[in-house]
Amino acid sequence: MSKTAKTNRKKMLRRVAAEMGRQKNTVILLVIIISAAKICLSQAPRVAGNITDYLGKMMTEGSADESWFIRQCLLLLFLYFVGYATEFFVTKGMVKISQSFICSLRNQAQKKLNRMHISYLDNHPIGDVLSRLTNDVITLSNGLESTVPSLAGQVVLLISLAVSMLITNWKLAIIYLTLIPFGLFLMKVITTKTSGLFKEQSVIVGDMNSLITDTYSNHTLMKAYSCEEEKLQAFEERNTKFRKAYVKSRFLSGLVLPLSILVNNGTYVCLCILGGVLLLNGKMTTGCFLAFILYGNMVATPMTTISNSLNNIQNALAAASRIYDFLDEEEDPLETKESVKPLADVKGEVSFEHVVFGYTPDHILMKDVSIKAPKGSFSAIVGPSGAGKTTLVNLLLRFYEINNGTIRLDETDTMDLSKADLRKNFGMVLQDTWIFDGTIADNIRYGKPDATPDEIEEAAKKAQCHDFISRLSEGYDTHISEEHIGLSAGEKQLIAIARTILADPKILILDEATSQVDTRTEYRIVKAMEELTKGRTTFMIAHRLFTIRNADQIMYMENGDILEVGNHEALMKKNGRYAAMYNT
Ligand code: ADP
Repeated sequence: MSKTAKTNRKKMLRRVAAEMGRQKNTVILLVIIISAAKICLSQAPRVAGNITDYLGKMMTEGSADESWFIRQCLLLLFLYFVGYATEFFVTKGMVKISQSFICSLRNQAQKKLNRMHISYLDNHPIGDVLSRLTNDVITLSNGLESTVPSLAGQVVLLISLAVSMLITNWKLAIIYLTLIPFGLFLMKVITTKTSGLFKEQSVIVGDMNSLITDTYSNHTLMKAYSCEEEKLQAFEERNTKFRKAYVKSRFLSGLVLPLSILVNNGTYVCLCILGGVLLLNGKMTTGCFLAFILYGNMVATPMTTISNSLNNIQNALAAASRIYDFLDEEEDPLETKESVKPLADVKGEVSFEHVVFGYTPDHILMKDVSIKAPKGSFSAIVGPSGAGKTTLVNLLLRFYEINNGTIRLDETDTMDLSKADLRKNFGMVLQDTWIFDGTIADNIRYGKPDATPDEIEEAAKKAQCHDFISRLSEGYDTHISEEHIGLSAGEKQLIAIARTILADPKILILDEATSQVDTRTEYRIVKAMEELTKGRTTFMIAHRLFTIRNADQIMYMENGDILEVGNHEALMKKNGRYAAMYNT
């Protein structure tokens, strides 16, 4: 394992311990209880040995102290009972602690998802994020539950067994005490190797999840382009990589049990030889020999459990590091300035003044963009793919911050506004309509949670979707979702338009919403759009130029800059890039 990996592992261990530290007292209590139980357990062989010696003495000498005998038997029973029964309560306690930690971690991750900077979501596959928030959280949870007190208990058991053995017979104890560290060393070597493999597995699972999500959500597209073979091959590659990493890690961790049994049995053979000699020479009692045989049986358990726990810890730490990497990602800072201005009576005028922007500092996309969209105007943004149309919208909504220049809403610099205040004024209808799991009414109500059923219906009427909603057997209470097949793409778009009409924003961003529907639905969408854009400042990212001939201004973009601005007639007369694009 590299030095950085080791440091990372230590850092992660400290971090998880610190997070668990909030429940420190309970964890300490559990550790004390399990340690006490294990100490009891380690005393059992000595008591069993005493009983055997007593029985031997009784048979040779004939005298019997029945009450001592019964007390010792009860003590033995008590030691075994305490030793094993407490395990149940400790496990229960640990499950509670780790689940409350995991529950808060899930909440943190969910909150983080909402606050995450948009660039993270733009640049990370959804499957990988999902894998961190589900698989890795479960792995961490399993690791925590099965590890902390159990590891502490087993370490205490191992130590107290060693001490008891030394007290009982130091010569025989030496055999164990030299072979146990050897066994532990072997396990350490193995767990170090498996730790890297566990992390690799988590990464591959994330990769596989991304591919599955991608393939599933774009399955029509994939079929249309006959990419099944290619996707299958990509999946098989990842699957094989995972299989190899899994088999290797399982092979190594599978070595642990037989190895520890082998070490233990070797110890056992040495014990029989030396013990037999001592016994035959009268230097050791039968009870003492029996006690050592029992110690021999008991010592294997903590060794195996410790090594399993170490494996689980490695696995859990690998998962924790992926979760914390996600939690440590840069957040979208809510405000860049300490004091933000309140915004009242927005008219809806938008202007860009000498805006400079690049997604990365070394690649400036917009060198100097200045535009003005008066209140209630309709601006169309056109240009080839990758020209910067979406970027313009990203900047307007402050998903990304500009490097230089000013973007104003009415007269106010948007940097002086809180992002929430700013975004409240915008409504969006995009090509990929977003429908969430819920009723149609819930979907329309999204931008105005307190809307009455009448308001919802009115918005739906304006958006030309009231008729088809009324024809559904459950009307506005019909349950719909992204994958709902009962609604066409156009109908979903009309619902999205109704949602925006109800939210009543001052400024609209439309991503040519009519491009994937039939002519009749397109007609309804155009009508709904007319209603929607009435009196609102509108920006439309347009792909089919004939739909924007009536726009107040058309902005032609290329390589991040706006090269031409004007209405359709003016730009056609200019016979520049827009005209060329229009004519083709
Ligand atoms: P359009 O919407 O006109 O197709 P975009 O605004 O999406 O174009 O993209 C403009 C340029 O910025 C492209 O070169 C694109 O690769 C780049 N780009 C877009 N989004 C990001 C991002 N999140 N991070 C880095 N570069 C990006």
